[in-house]
Amino acid sequence: MMRQYELVERVKRYNPSADEALLNRAYVYAMMAHGNQKRASGDLFFGHPLEVAAILTDMKLDEATIAAAVLHDTVEDTEATLEEINKTFGPQIGALVDGLTKIKRLDLVSKRAAQGENFRKLLLAIADDVRVLLVKLADRLHNMRTLGFMPPEKRKRIAEETLEIYAPLAGRMGIQEMREELEDLSFQNLDPEAYEAINRHLHELTAKSEKLVDEIEQTLTTKLKAQGIDAHVSGRQKRPYSIWRKMERKSVSFEQLSDIFAFRIIVGTLDECYRALGTVHTSWPMVPGRYKDYISTPKQNDYRSIHTTVIGPGSQRVELQIRTQEMDEIAEYGIAAHALYKEGVNDNSRLATESRAYQWLRRTIDLLAEGDNPEEFLEHTKLELFHDQVFCFTPKGRLIALPRGATPIDFAYAVHTDVGNTAVGCKINGRMSPLLTELQNGDEVEIVRAEGQTPPAAWESLVVTGKARASIRRATRAAVRRQYTGLGHQILERAFERAGRPFSDEKLKGALPRLARVSAEDVLAAVGRGEMFSGDVVRAVYPDYKEERRTGTETRIAGEPDGAGEKSSGEQSSGIPIRGLNKDMPIRFAPEGGAVPGDRIVGILTPGEGVTIYPIQSSALADFDNEPDRWIDVRWDLEFGSTQRFPARIKLQSINEPGSLAQIAQVIADHDGNIDSVNMKRRTQDFTDVTIDLTVWDLKHLNAIIAELRAKRVVSRVDRITG
Ligand code: MN
Repeated sequence: MMRQYELVERVKRYNPSADEALLNRAYVYAMMAHGNQKRASGDLFFGHPLEVAAILTDMKLDEATIAAAVLHDTVEDTEATLEEINKTFGPQIGALVDGLTKIKRLDLVSKRAAQGENFRKLLLAIADDVRVLLVKLADRLHNMRTLGFMPPEKRKRIAEETLEIYAPLAGRMGIQEMREELEDLSFQNLDPEAYEAINRHLHELTAKSEKLVDEIEQTLTTKLKAQGIDAHVSGRQKRPYSIWRKMERKSVSFEQLSDIFAFRIIVGTLDECYRALGTVHTSWPMVPGRYKDYISTPKQNDYRSIHTTVIGPGSQRVELQIRTQEMDEIAEYGIAAHALYKEGVNDNSRLATESRAYQWLRRTIDLLAEGDNPEEFLEHTKLELFHDQVFCFTPKGRLIALPRGATPIDFAYAVHTDVGNTAVGCKINGRMSPLLTELQNGDEVEIVRAEGQTPPAAWESLVVTGKARASIRRATRAAVRRQYTGLGHQILERAFERAGRPFSDEKLKGALPRLARVSAEDVLAAVGRGEMFSGDVVRAVYPDYKEERRTGTETRIAGEPDGAGEKSSGEQSSGIPIRGLNKDMPIRFAPEGGAVPGDRIVGILTPGEGVTIYPIQSSALADFDNEPDRWIDVRWDLEFGSTQRFPARIKLQSINEPGSLAQIAQVIADHDGNIDSVNMKRRTQDFTDVTIDLTVWDLKHLNAIIAELRAKRVVSRVDRITG
């Protein structure tokens, strides 16, 4: 176990003026607090916080972080309290330990919804001070290194959580070394067989190609020296997990992987990076498509380096990374490199200004504040964590970093939510292009906008950034709701008009308790969505109102026996005007889209229940083909000029765009049709199936409405549905 003086020495090596007394106090305090506690390995627990602190001294972090690392498990696992820590070590270290204590209670691979919520809490706990995250990552790294002592179930859960959350977070913070080790350790625990197989291959390969690696290192060093560039060249093997991922992604075998080795060329200055690149490219042919310049456009986690692949000595593919010492430090330690001990101890603000990784963290946390549900949030964040980046520019040269696969729509939302919401087209590198083009590195994107737009709902599934998806969802939810309330309003107005009663929002508000809704808008939306019937609303507002219901309900026959040829009695107006049936026979229309005058009709007898009227073209009649006894001849018995209405059902295919439903409703209203209910079902990204139950006077009336609907641009197809 690390001794007290060793800890102090480690810190003093890179920070000679470190607060020795603070480190000593933390050491003693944690040692006393943990006392004789043991880890699963049987070792003294106190060794764990010391190892965590040691990892952080390798990253040269300030003494407050080191002290917090030593103390990180005291509040959760011992008698120590936060008040005591605050009193003994001050509020800054207190806040770090508090953040770590909170995170410790989170379980990030629990049920999906809880996982999202917990991840949200994790990010909020590290929001105030990114050093909390650095200690947490070091804590996780040490736990992963000693995971073998845990029971298998727990091991798997912790490895999963590490691979899904902590390794990508380390990557996003630019701490590549740590990310790779976390990935490899997770991989080893989650899939020991695959891990062993790859490791075995790697060892064999190393033995075989040791000479080749030396040779390439030598050749590169010599060539660069000849150009006056003093470079440090080192070959390194790729990590098991990154090889495994490549094998999975490209479905290739280990033998087919040509770039197991990568070489790093560390030079003195930025200028030398490009000169070294020139030397490499003039010495060996480069492999097209592999050259990337992350120096002129750094990755979002601040990573800077030049990547290229050449066909090198012995026709071997050689992958090269060229960068300066400083860039190399950032490549390995990322955000922690910015937290390197410098002047101004504990100056956390430096992180905010210097590090893009920190800016990413802030943005992610801001997204939390927009209040989507945690599950959605997790999906977005994971997506953002795992994707590679593309870098694009606004016409004014502002750099916009996006996940790979991003479209100009993502770009627009990344610039500003309003730009996204009003985007109607785009120019990529000066050329008009579809909004669904996949953006490439370096593209200059100009968004064409039109005010007063609502983004099509279909975009939601096409964008890749969380911000765009959340914004589109918000915008379309609002638009869809507006559409439904508008439709509900139309339906209700007509229903009240029919009932001969005045309608107003005020009256509706008075009836809210009876309708069990909290707002008038809720009622309108419910009616628009077909969840509530207009008649129910009329009755709720006017409890004394008695409506005669026809649709789908049983009614007594109003006609005389067949052949009587006389007008039926007074009940006719409320009944179904059909001839050909016994007076006492219950009669109703087929439930799925009835018949209207003008249709040729037939009655089907169900003993004990009555007669159901079908239009002769109804496909449902096929069910009765073998039962001729049940078929009854009926015909319409309607007075000329009758104002009675009959139920019909139509099915439309409408284009998914805001306002299309309102246009459809308007056509029906203009033709004096009454909508009883509307049912919508998204069919594809572009089309929605809309089923409308309406009442009309007769077939001519219905056909006129259908013809008018077919003429609408937003309607691609209309069919009448009959049973
Ligand atoms: Mn711990």
